[in-house]
Amino acid sequence: METVMISACLVGDKVRYDGKGKYNPLVKEILQKYNLLPLCPEVLGGLSIPRDPSEIVKEKVITKNGKDVTKEYNKGAFLCLNPISFKHVRKAILQDRSPACGVNKIHNGKFDDGLITGEGILTKKLKENNIECYTIEEFYDKFIKEDKKDDQTLNELNELVK
Ligand code: SF4
Repeated sequence: METVMISACLVGDKVRYDGKGKYNPLVKEILQKYNLLPLCPEVLGGLSIPRDPSEIVKEKVITKNGKDVTKEYNKGAFLCLNPISFKHVRKAILQDRSPACGVNKIHNGKFDDGLITGEGILTKKLKENNIECYTIEEFYDKFIKEDKKDDQTLNELNELVK
């Protein structure tokens, strides 16, 4: 089975800034067709659980209390590449809106819950290394839902020729 990297919080690991996970029930279906490699770049970069929330402000990552944690984010993204390359991973499922894992949207850097178009530090690094990046919904629609339709059509054809 192909191995796909996934943001660790999406499988329920309690690695988020607030000490909680963000389990997504689509994980169960994805696991039937793929091995998952859960990684949290923020924790790998040396940040604690819990920690102050951070947002991307221009080229830097800054905590709500004004601390520059860009170095930790870059380190975490870099460290993710090792297991990814070891396991021959070509695709990643990432938690949107995160300053590390955001795929299509990130917070606007004003800590007011506003969102802008953009991607996280890890996502950028993965794309530079030719890893395809998806939100979990995008991945499900592209690789699970379509397969399910094909399986259903095949089953219907099998029934017809019986
Ligand atoms: S860095 Fe990524 S994996 Fe870690 S808590 Fe944030 S979104 Fe989840």
